[in-house]
Amino acid sequence: MLSQRATRIKPSPTLAIDSKAKAMKASGIDVINFGVGEPDFDTPEHIKEAAVKAMKDGFTKYTPVGGIDALKDAIIEKFKSDNGLSYNREEIIVSCGAKHSLYNIAQALYGPGDEVIIPSPYWVSYPDQVLLNDATPVIVKTFESDSFMIRPEVLENAVTKKTKALILNSPSNPTGMIYNRETLGKIAELAVKHNFYIISDEIYEKLIYDGARHVSIASLGDEVKGKTLVVNGLSKSHAMTGWRLGYAAGPADIIKAMTNIQSQSTSNPTSITQKAAVEALTGPQDFIDEMLREFDQRRRYIVSELSALDHISCAMPSGAFYAFPNTSRIYGRRYGDKTISSSGDLALYLLEEAKVALVHGQAFGDDDYIRLSYATSLEDIRKGIERIREALSKLEVQG
Ligand SMILES: *Cc1c(COP(=O)(O)O)cnc(C)c1O
Repeated sequence: MLSQRATRIKPSPTLAIDSKAKAMKASGIDVINFGVGEPDFDTPEHIKEAAVKAMKDGFTKYTPVGGIDALKDAIIEKFKSDNGLSYNREEIIVSCGAKHSLYNIAQALYGPGDEVIIPSPYWVSYPDQVLLNDATPVIVKTFESDSFMIRPEVLENAVTKKTKALILNSPSNPTGMIYNRETLGKIAELAVKHNFYIISDEIYEKLIYDGARHVSIASLGDEVKGKTLVVNGLSKSHAMTGWRLGYAAGPADIIKAMTNIQSQSTSNPTSITQKAAVEALTGPQDFIDEMLREFDQRRRYIVSELSALDHISCAMPSGAFYAFPNTSRIYGRRYGDKTISSSGDLALYLLEEAKVALVHGQAFGDDDYIRLSYATSLEDIRKGIERIREALSKLEVQG
C-alpha cells in the first residue's frame, strides 16, 4: 500500500499537459504547444563548452553536497551585483534545480501543524510541496486589479500562530506580474512582526520588460533578510532547464539543515552542470538581452491578439513568458451537447478541437483564467491564436 503522503498529491499538471501535447505531436497531430514552461532557446555555446571541458578534465566525481566553492562564490557575486545582497558560503546551497531547492526548504521548515501561506494564482508545485511535508497550504486569493499582488492587510488576516512561511513569486508564473517595492516593504514588516519566513522564488528575475525593476524582498533590511530564503536558478535565465541547477540563500542554520537533507537524497548537483553554471554566471550575459528582446516582441503580439478575441481580456504581463487571459465570460457556452463550464473544460476543448495546448487556470488556483506560454515562435503564436479564434466561434450561448 502506498504511503498516505503519496496519495495526498497529484502530478505536476503543467508537465502533464506538456507531455500530452508532445505525445499528440509524436503521433503525427499538428499541435501548437502553449503549455511549455521553458525557454525555446538553446543553452548558449560557451556554457556547453564549459561542461565539455569539465568532462574532458575528468571533473566527473562527487563534489561537496551543497556545491563547489567556485560556484558558491559566483552565486555570492551574483547576489551582490544584481540584488545588493551579501551572503557567505555557509548561507548558500546549490541543488538540482530551483524546484529541488524549494523542496529542501519544505523539508527543512514545514511539519505537522504548520501553515504555509500561498497567494493564488500560484506556481503548481507550491501547495503539493507543502502537503508532501505534512503541513497545510493556506491559499489566499489575489486579484488582477491589484496586479495579483497580495494585499498586506489580507495577508495579515491570514496569519495565525501556526503560520510558518509565505511563498512569494515575483516575477510570477503564471501571471507575469511583478511585486513593487512598496508592497514588498509592507510584507517584510509583517514577516518580522509575526515571525514567519518568506520563501522568495525569483527564478524569472532576468525576464522583465519595459524597464521594470526586480526587487528582492531580502534586500529591504537585515531583519527581513534573516527571515527570507531567496531561491533562484539558471533554467529560465540561461535556457538550462534540462541541466537541473538551482540555488537558495538564507540563514546559515536553515541552509545547513537543507544541505544535510540533500546529502541523504540526491547528494551533490551534477558535477559537470556545476562547472557550466560557473560559466553561465560569470561569462558573457548578452544572450539574455537577445532572448528578452525576442520574448518582448512575442509578449506584445500575443497579448494584443488575445485581447482582440471576443469575451476574453488579457492584461499585459511585466515579466516571465506567460500570457494569463481571463476567459470566465466564455464559461456556460456550449459545443454540441457539452458545456464549457470551467478553465479545464476550455483547455480540453481547445486541445481536442483546435489542437492547441495550454494550461487551465484551475491548476494555478484560479479558474477564471488560462495560461499560454509564449516561449514558442511568432509563427506558432499566429497560427495558434487563429485556431483558438475559430474554435471559440463554434461555441453557442446557453439556452
Ligand atoms: C520553472 C520554475 C521553477 C523551477 O525551476 P528549475 O530550476 O528548473 O527547477 C521554480 N519556480 C517557478 C515559478 C518556475 O516557473
